[in-house]
Amino acid sequence: MTAAAPVPLLDLKAQFAAIKDEIMPRVAEVFEQQAFILGPHVGRAEEELAAYLGAPHALGVSSGTDALLLALMALGVGPGHGVVTTPFTFFATVGSIVRLGAVPLFADIDPDTYNLDPAKVAELLARQDLPARPKAMIPVHLFGQPAEMGPLMELANKHGLMVVEDAAQAIGVIYPRPDGKTQKAGIIGDAGCFSFFPSKNLGGAGDGGLITCRDDELAEKLSSMRTHGSHPKEKYRHLYVGGNFRLDALQAAVISAKLPHLDSWSAARRSNAADYDRLFSESGILERGQASLPFRAWPEAAESHVFNQYVIRVQDRAGLMRRLGEAKIGHAVYYPTPLHLAECFAGLGHGPGAFPVAEKAAAEVLALPIYPELTMEQKERVVGVIRDYYAS
Ligand SMILES: *Cc1c(COP(=O)(O)O)cnc(C)c1O
Repeated sequence: MTAAAPVPLLDLKAQFAAIKDEIMPRVAEVFEQQAFILGPHVGRAEEELAAYLGAPHALGVSSGTDALLLALMALGVGPGHGVVTTPFTFFATVGSIVRLGAVPLFADIDPDTYNLDPAKVAELLARQDLPARPKAMIPVHLFGQPAEMGPLMELANKHGLMVVEDAAQAIGVIYPRPDGKTQKAGIIGDAGCFSFFPSKNLGGAGDGGLITCRDDELAEKLSSMRTHGSHPKEKYRHLYVGGNFRLDALQAAVISAKLPHLDSWSAARRSNAADYDRLFSESGILERGQASLPFRAWPEAAESHVFNQYVIRVQDRAGLMRRLGEAKIGHAVYYPTPLHLAECFAGLGHGPGAFPVAEKAAAEVLALPIYPELTMEQKERVVGVIRDYYAS
């Protein structure tokens, strides 16, 4: 093999180089003002994000994880409650449920989209032997494609469940509703949770997150609980037991500077995905069944995927990963262990085979570089190395 240039899984330096002149003055402004906690930068970012998402309320918080935890806390989820969710997600989705003493009620995923399968959720909710009374549901919009919110919301309404959307990987994605209207993911349920972790589509310079909601009272409660449940006007008067869940002003300044670019970055991710689709189709490995492409649930709706990850399914994944490693091509497995099999959740009592669709996905998925600044040469190299691996 030739010593071709490495292709990283993510190249944040390329993004920063392009927008450094927009970011650094905002950061300097925070320092000039010495207003690091909440203040004008957080307020501004919240207004801009609310407008961008079409959300009546948007509240900056300390991380995507804390967005989930705080949303569940404010909705009153606690010991004895069940929360319906997917086992095929990042740990925080399920961790936030368990941290509150509630019980994750897993339903298996759709093999094509990797999102919660509404039919499996319906089956779960019909059971009489659940370990806890279902109170809420957390659909995850995995890899940047919306979960099937239409049917999931119907089930939630039928069973009286509150819905917290985990939109950490899906900021800005459009959900094409069954009634023909569109809505952004994260503003469909009772609350939507977003992450500004640097590798997310809208990444900060550290940790950060956002909660959106429609209800005014819930927004007030979230805002209070974000600062130890304090009264909005009177200091040292506490209405709830909350926590320190505030978004940092520095992060808010960075997010606000980056937000105007988000749609063009998402478009670039989609265009990279389309190039990969074409290159893989030309490679021959799809017909031979050695790999399969990411499934588009709504191919007619252009903005219905924001490709936080481009995830293919492959045969002989370990061998391919070794080859990609030698060729210095970034790749990752999201996620190698479905959460019902995580060691720390052994107490839930799920064994191998409990959620076979999630388990099969965990054994086969592989994420490839998809960041907006990826060049055609890099995409060709990624597909070329994979094609050659299966040809040899
Ligand atoms: C990243 C992520 C989170 C957590 O966000 P952090 O900001 O890292 O705390 C939660 N859920 C999903 C699906 C994620 O991808």
